[in-house]
Amino acid sequence: MSATIIDGKAIAQEVRSEVAQKVTELKAKGINPCLAVILVGENPASVSYVTGKQKALAEAGMTDRSVHLPENTTEEDLLKLIDELNKDKSVNGILVQLPLPKHINEDRVIMAINPEKDVDGFHPVNVGNLMIGRKAFLPCTPHGVVVLLEKMKIETSGKHCVIVGRSNIVGKPLAILMSSRKVNSTVTICHTGTKNMAEITKQADILVAAAGHPSTITKDMVKPGAVVIDVGVNRIPDSTKKSGFRLVGDCDYDEVAEIASYITPVPGGVGPMTIAMLMFNTLEAAMNQNGLN
Ligand code: NAP
Repeated sequence: MSATIIDGKAIAQEVRSEVAQKVTELKAKGINPCLAVILVGENPASVSYVTGKQKALAEAGMTDRSVHLPENTTEEDLLKLIDELNKDKSVNGILVQLPLPKHINEDRVIMAINPEKDVDGFHPVNVGNLMIGRKAFLPCTPHGVVVLLEKMKIETSGKHCVIVGRSNIVGKPLAILMSSRKVNSTVTICHTGTKNMAEITKQADILVAAAGHPSTITKDMVKPGAVVIDVGVNRIPDSTKKSGFRLVGDCDYDEVAEIASYITPVPGGVGPMTIAMLMFNTLEAAMNQNGLN
């Protein structure tokens, strides 16, 4: 058996086109959806993520109010900027690119963002609303995973979904979404405290890897015919590349693809969906703030 490759790039493009269409309609009503992405410092991965987000904003026809601050920005100055953006009615969404430099407290920064503009869905108000099934900004990566499954028409109801990783931005919110009534999967979460992980991952109909280490999932850990979603993005040295590295996921892709029914590649799987869902959330924010939802 050889897995069907889930083309995250194409599905993300579909979502982005849908968003762009709605942006055109909003603009005709005089509403210009606008996102402020705040980047502090020069972390290369963060710079590349922010560039991707800015390109997507331009393509969707949304206003880009991004701010790039130097590495030595104080927490106080960052909080002041967030306060200004919170008050600025022309800004619908605010996203602070993580991780932040060590001298800035991420929790305080996330808490400072007005939940109504928190398009990353990281503020406790949005996390809490998600938890109890109320309207919330869904965190982009887990939401992207669910939309990938939906668009591929992969049955989730009654399936056993095993998620490797319990972070606040991927594993935990994905577990909530996958076990919602709408998606209706039975969920198991694995982490570094999990014993005999292969025994658990082998029971998965849908296996999501979000551990952040290459080769966390090997072929012997996957049930033949399982759907494998690889969220991991890891840079490994590669002297044949101009950049000196290449990106791999958390799964041993080639060998897992031999037995899975579906698999997401890295790059080109979940990554593009994250940006697409950010565009979706920014559109939602603009609609909410203009009384259209
Ligand atoms: P994180 O905060 O480092 O969390 C990783 C989680 O995986 C932790 O819960 C950790 O367990 C668990 N884990 C690590 N190694 C494990 C192992 N060998 N066995 C079982 N569990 C293990 O990472 P994250 O922010 O969730 O991100 C995870 C990966 O997804 C990273 O590669 C990141 O770059 C990628 N990512 C991609 C996107 C995208 O758009 N594609 C977005 C976000 C993140 P403990 O809790 O016990 O430490």
